[in-house]
Amino acid sequence: MSDMKDVTGGCHCGAVRFEAKVDLSQTNVCNCSHCEKKGFVLSFTPRENFRLLQGEDQLTEYRFNKKKIAHVFCKTCGVQAFAWGEAPDGAQMAAVNARCIDGVDLKALTPVQIDGRSF
Ligand SMILES: [Zn+2]
Repeated sequence: MSDMKDVTGGCHCGAVRFEAKVDLSQTNVCNCSHCEKKGFVLSFTPRENFRLLQGEDQLTEYRFNKKKIAHVFCKTCGVQAFAWGEAPDGAQMAAVNARCIDGVDLKALTPVQIDGRSF
């Protein structure tokens, strides 16, 4: 069941801000080397549901492994509020870092574990 909600969020210093429609009943954590270090709780949403409000020029990009996902983070505070990626069917997606959503109740989330280490 989908439960899309309008949210806003951003990095720590406030340079990068976004708004998005996300379904916070569908989040995941991943055990790949990158997600484990950053502690992401991610909510994937179609790219058209995501809008960067400010800070495009503040973003620095990091890619690794198959380089398919653009991990963009604030060059001032280092926080990665979201990433650009692609679904297996080629659909353009935004991976929103639920930890960076304004007022999010992290304890209320029930993330599904993804075995990214094996991808
Ligand atoms: Zn920042």
